[in-house]
Amino acid sequence: MRKSLFLSCTLVGLVVASTAITAQKKNAATEEDWLRGVTTGKTRVVDLTYAINDKLPAWPGDGHVFEAKVNATADKDGYFTRSFWMLEHYGTHMDAPAHFPPGKLTVDEIPTAHLFGPAVVVDVRDEAANDSDYRLTTARVEKWEAAHGKIPQGAFVLLRTGWAARWPNQARYRNMDGQGVMHFPGYSVAAAELLIARGVVGLGIDTLSIDYGPSKDFEVHRVDLPANLYNLENLASLDALPESGAFVIAAPIKLEGGSGGACRVFALLPTS
Ligand SMILES: [Zn+2]
Repeated sequence: MRKSLFLSCTLVGLVVASTAITAQKKNAATEEDWLRGVTTGKTRVVDLTYAINDKLPAWPGDGHVFEAKVNATADKDGYFTRSFWMLEHYGTHMDAPAHFPPGKLTVDEIPTAHLFGPAVVVDVRDEAANDSDYRLTTARVEKWEAAHGKIPQGAFVLLRTGWAARWPNQARYRNMDGQGVMHFPGYSVAAAELLIARGVVGLGIDTLSIDYGPSKDFEVHRVDLPANLYNLENLASLDALPESGAFVIAAPIKLEGGSGGACRVFALLPTS
């Protein structure tokens, strides 16, 4: 009797242990399938990048923003090539840490591990619709965490303000008043400090800057870049992402010594 009880307890223990191992294996397989699913269509890829031309809404003051010149044509030369020139901070782009504080990482030096991470999408479209000068609050970040759990270390924060609906209309996107002051939403210093404390790798936004339009001294840039975060600005298609559950890949142009540069940004979404 005693012996059989011991035996059955042992059996139960074995079953529990093997179930845990199976569950572990299953999770590992699911994560592997996530990337493989890109080619099979089980993972949806959302391109968060605008195509580049010379007519994109740009930061005021730079007359010359982008230029492409045809060097060879298929008709004349048998192949097609162009050369191009552009600002580092134009279109969908990355601000490297070196953009503000001296001595920080340039765009080619950002560790590759920092270019991949879970997306934290904070939706402030209602707030921004009511107030063009809205700045993300710590309370709004805490509200996101109450709904989705603590922001994981290594996450990308993507602030969805709804400003992408104004792209590519420069006047509406900049939203400049009679005094030449721009009005669009951004992050607050307090929210950036909270996100830095959470260990996020970058701050993204669907406007011209992570600092709100009227900012004169770029106070959020001066807080997050020294902490070795980078920024993703002029992001496209954030409306296609869930608030939690997407995975982001940011691939900036590897310009040696660059303060930033054009960046291709993808979000992966499992469909099953
Ligand atoms: Zn920039």
